Amino acid sequence: MEYLSTRDRTLRVSAAEAIKMGLSRDGGLFTPVYFPELGALDLKTMCPMNYCRRSAYVMGKYLEDFATEELRSYAESAYGGGKFDAPTVAPLRQVDENTWCLELWHGPTSAFKDMALQMLPHLLSASLRRTGEKKTACILVATSGDTGKAALEGFAGVQQTKILVFYPENGVSQIQKLQMVTQEGANVGVCAVRGNFDDAQNGVKRIFSDAAIREELAGRGYFLSSANSINWGRVMPQIVYYISAYCDLLNQGAIRLGEGINVCVPTGNFGNILACYYARRMGLPVKKLICASNRNDVLTDFIRTGVYDRNRPFHTTMSPSMDILISSNLERLLFDLSGKDDALVRDYMSRLSGTGRYEISKEMKDKLDGIFYGGFCGEEDTSAAIGKLYRGGYLIDPHTAVAAKVLADYRRETGDMTPAVFASTASPFKFCDSVLRAIGEEPAADSVERIGQLQAVTGVAAPARLAALAEKRVRFTDVTEREKMEEIVHRFLA
Ligand SMILES: *Cc1c(COP(=O)(O)O)cnc(C)c1O
Repeated sequence: MEYLSTRDRTLRVSAAEAIKMGLSRDGGLFTPVYFPELGALDLKTMCPMNYCRRSAYVMGKYLEDFATEELRSYAESAYGGGKFDAPTVAPLRQVDENTWCLELWHGPTSAFKDMALQMLPHLLSASLRRTGEKKTACILVATSGDTGKAALEGFAGVQQTKILVFYPENGVSQIQKLQMVTQEGANVGVCAVRGNFDDAQNGVKRIFSDAAIREELAGRGYFLSSANSINWGRVMPQIVYYISAYCDLLNQGAIRLGEGINVCVPTGNFGNILACYYARRMGLPVKKLICASNRNDVLTDFIRTGVYDRNRPFHTTMSPSMDILISSNLERLLFDLSGKDDALVRDYMSRLSGTGRYEISKEMKDKLDGIFYGGFCGEEDTSAAIGKLYRGGYLIDPHTAVAAKVLADYRRETGDMTPAVFASTASPFKFCDSVLRAIGEEPAADSVERIGQLQAVTGVAAPARLAALAEKRVRFTDVTEREKMEEIVHRFLA
């Protein structure tokens, strides 16, 4: 199958090239030319499979030139061998009679980013081989907290790659920061940026679109690549777990084959929810896609009004991985809703970078309404949702709490009680401070100590890797102005 750029549909590349390049030269995002079909028979076939098998099955539909055996071995390396602390990889936990929580954080860094970033390095290495690439991939990552660590963990020690992560100096939690600055491996680098996530992301985009830098790096044997959620190799592995969750619901007898479910996803860059939209486009019986935002409610307004307007205050919240005003992956949705109208997408994106605002056509808005519901959850409501679920016996993190609250709002507002799955994107132990407060405890002064505190108070076991953070040595202390990120890249590769 071929992939085309959202900003130039005549530009077509193979899957291997799309994954290798990350972002198209014209600034567009690579999307599949068509969505492979997922019928009732496929779902029946997948039901008895484990997660690795399901993953190879779904990805095989998008990567026709990869052998099934090859994809299975990547899936085994990514999700098998005890890397995940749940035997089913992405378990579904029943919350009440028609609500399930899809836990996506059982991987090595305790956030859902592992679901894609444990797989991406295998796909990228295979893509380098397939395209005969001899240069080393220099992977630049802007992170709002969780991507950085998951990408470092996925790429550490991977041949023919180097990875450099930029994070907003004051925009990530203490634990997230510690996870990154203690990363081991000879091919990794980490640097803080004075600014917020959008500043870091814009800096990375600026470097990507700078022809002079590209040329200079090529002369030294490097090419730039991305592990951000704009890379097709990130989106595709995420499609799998929605389909897998549907199979689990079938296996449990909770739904009948073909019965529709609703899915609620806590959203930042629009990658995770886009993957569910793609699963739906393939034929997975998803009725409503509920897009949950925190106080940075730019997507809620977009879904309700059809106007995307980033001109608004940026809020730092207790769900920092969703503190985003420019949701990059939304571009892929626009491309699909417009019937692959690349000129229109170019127009919207140039308005977005110019005035910070665009309005979609009536036709696109109608399509959007049929599929999506948008809601947001403020800080107090986030705490309240954590407290409420905890009293019901379930400890969740603030990102997950946003989804739980918006799902409840949706149901109250519409009366639609269709069986629903909400995505749980991080372990509560990644955000001990907010979680402890939400359940009525005063957090200990030291951020690592709070992990033990939360464990003691709740009786829930902390992920072993987080508990071990206190013993790790800090390796990276660099901070840069956002205008000077280029220099950091040069120094890293020197
Ligand atoms: C990245 C992240 C999100 C947002 O996911 P997107 O794909 O950017 O929408 C939500 N929760 C957590 C914990 C995350 O790490």
